[in-house]
Amino acid sequence: MTERCEVAIIGSGFAGSLLARILAVLGYDVVLLERGTHPRFAIGESSTPLANLSLERIGRRYGLTDCYQLAAHGRWLAHYPQLRRGLKRGFTFYRHHPGESFADRGLESERLLVAASPTDAVADTHWLRADVDHHFVREAVAAGVDYRDRVDVTAAEFSPGHVSLSGQRNGEGFHLLADLVIDASGPGGFLARQLAIPSGLGSTHTRSALVFSHFADMLLMRDVLADLPEGPYPDDWAAVHHLIDEGWMYSLRFDDGVTSAGFLVTPPGMATLGVPESAGADAIWRTLLDRYPTIATIFADATPVMPVAFRPAIQHRLTRAAGERWVLLPHAYAFVDPLFSTGIAWSLRAIERLALSFELESHSRRMPTDDQLARYDALLHVEADQIDQMVAAAYEAMAHFDLFAAHAMIYFAIVSFTEVRQRLVRDDSAAWGGFLGAGEPVSGPLPGESLRRLRSITGGRGATGSADDRRRYAEWVSGSIAPRNVVGLADPTRNNLYPVDLDVLIDRHELLGLSREQMVERLPALRGMSDVPSIGR
Ligand SMILES: Cc1cc2nc3c(=O)[nH]c(=O)nc-3n(C[C@H](O)[C@H](O)[C@H](O)COP(=O)(O)OP(=O)(O)OC[C@H]3O[C@@H](n4cnc5c(N)ncnc54)[C@H](O)[C@@H]3O)c2cc1C
Repeated sequence: MTERCEVAIIGSGFAGSLLARILAVLGYDVVLLERGTHPRFAIGESSTPLANLSLERIGRRYGLTDCYQLAAHGRWLAHYPQLRRGLKRGFTFYRHHPGESFADRGLESERLLVAASPTDAVADTHWLRADVDHHFVREAVAAGVDYRDRVDVTAAEFSPGHVSLSGQRNGEGFHLLADLVIDASGPGGFLARQLAIPSGLGSTHTRSALVFSHFADMLLMRDVLADLPEGPYPDDWAAVHHLIDEGWMYSLRFDDGVTSAGFLVTPPGMATLGVPESAGADAIWRTLLDRYPTIATIFADATPVMPVAFRPAIQHRLTRAAGERWVLLPHAYAFVDPLFSTGIAWSLRAIERLALSFELESHSRRMPTDDQLARYDALLHVEADQIDQMVAAAYEAMAHFDLFAAHAMIYFAIVSFTEVRQRLVRDDSAAWGGFLGAGEPVSGPLPGESLRRLRSITGGRGATGSADDRRRYAEWVSGSIAPRNVVGLADPTRNNLYPVDLDVLIDRHELLGLSREQMVERLPALRGMSDVPSIGR
């Protein structure tokens, strides 16, 4: 039997489910197709202030109370304690060296902490994706989305009047006609295969392999390095990054004590390890731990709660993100690397754009216009490049901690400026603003220029450059971010420990086009406190 719907969405990660639900709220007839079932494991867990801003805007605009409640750790705990999550107060980085324990040199340690929030209540979160994605799919169903799991969609045929999807469910064939199909299958790459969209990976810079799991009984870094000077928040309640010669490790602690951890290893890093991929995930994991004594110590009694897994290459990139009757969500279009936690925020920003494009007030027909889809496509393209350059430059900068700490300031300056501006200065076009400053005159060129400068220091082969080279690079960063540096980054007197400092923000009011008085008056909005959403459109 042939069925019809207006919009078919392939994939029910949080992104597919949330977009499906918004479209249902807007009055669309939506079918959401998932090849697996919920709850299920998913990777990509660490949220950011920009992700939470998008969630709050979505909550407010479409009357989705839970989106607003889940956008801050305190509200999450108060309203959805059953959904597992972790407290994330900021971004923590340590540099480790092979065969050496992490050196506690007090304020001179190779350690960088950047606070993303002033208190636990308004802090970001790590999402236990099994719970969060399940929540979003249940809410989609409650909003009227026709959700079908265990579906194997085998074909999509495009004709001028509709898209025809066919496949199997429970051993029976199905046939669905949709006006538009949205690919939210992530790296599953459903439409990439159906439409033979060419890969764009060849023009990107970042390459890394991944070995990862979730672990019980891991120690905190603070258990091992109790004498390190106090930071702006407890080091471990953060997205913790361990920089190593071969790449880096993420460590995201959930409030129940389970930790999501994974090593990202560059191709030269894999070669250095000398463990063939065929040796398997456990052997690669063990070899990495054995090289870094402090990391080995925090994992000494840890047990994986699911098998350690290995993926030889995690990057993908396509050359188109939208066309006639089809759209890709960001994670179906491109993925670079978890460094700087860009995935959730970028996905939510794209959901905002698509949702706005479906709002009937914006056009006379019930589907996004060609212009809207072309704009979406063009923006994802420059944004994917921007993320790639930001991350590739960070890998380059890992050659020396001073270079890394300086480059990271570019990321933090761009995102903090965007966050503060979006919270304090009314901006109705925020959803269409380029992610990570992509396409913006001041921020846009910075990651690419940083990559170029870093490569001239490292030679692309990990050279650390001279002390002068590193000082000049840090000075360039400091000068370049000045027009966006509303939070006092790149300040040597901070010793790489950056709190949320409202006095600095007030002093720099002019960078946001505000008077001092306006700034002071609007500060409560920074915590999302003065702006409780009115539910219902
Ligand atoms: C190692 C790693 C770490 C990451 N860490 C972070 C982080 O800390 N912070 C962050 O912001 N982002 C992170 N990301 C990115 C993050 O994972 C993605 O941005 C996020 O998962 C996107 O969600 P999604 O719903 O679009 O897709 P996914 O979560 O990929 O969901 C896709 C869904 O589609 C389904 N599907 C696939 N193929 C089909 C098909 N053919 N038919 C039907 N259904 C299908 C899948 O079963 C799945 O349910 C990380 C990514 C990786 C690889």
